[in-house]
Amino acid sequence: MTPAESLGACPFCGHVPQDLRDALHPTGIRWREDKGIRHYIGPKDPRDGTPCWSLDCLEHEGGCGAEMSGDGRDEVISKWNRRAPALQAAMHSCEATEVIYIGDDFYWKSGTMMSSLYAVDGRRYDWGFVRRDLRNGKAVNLRPATAHELAHYTAIRDEKHPPAAEPGDPT
Ligand SMILES: [Zn+2]
Repeated sequence: MTPAESLGACPFCGHVPQDLRDALHPTGIRWREDKGIRHYIGPKDPRDGTPCWSLDCLEHEGGCGAEMSGDGRDEVISKWNRRAPALQAAMHSCEATEVIYIGDDFYWKSGTMMSSLYAVDGRRYDWGFVRRDLRNGKAVNLRPATAHELAHYTAIRDEKHPPAAEPGDPT
């Protein structure tokens, strides 16, 4: 196994461990089973046990110092890899600006000059901002708004610019 092939990026910071001889090592704690229950024993305990392993995100390699341990070498690796995808998705959205497209109607029809793009944190975006980010080498994750988000912006629009009264309605 080479780290680049099968070891995922650190679940906490995204660093990919480089030197596994350094990053992956037994912790000194071992485990053993008594009547089906797993116990952990220290280095000085004379009883037999299976070594626990630790996988560290090494700071001298540019990592964050996070440490994960498991009841064996393979287990700690699979734990690390299992954990990676979910957090990586979250990290990805930190690096890239996540922008939603709420449709052109807000701008063209509402008379409020609302943008058709908003960052997920509610900041107004527009196509010029997207171009600016891309020019600066910054990623933009652009996706259609969910129904929930759309309802939120519809409410804002209607607050700024209430739907026109039907002709003939008393004002
Ligand atoms: Zn890390």
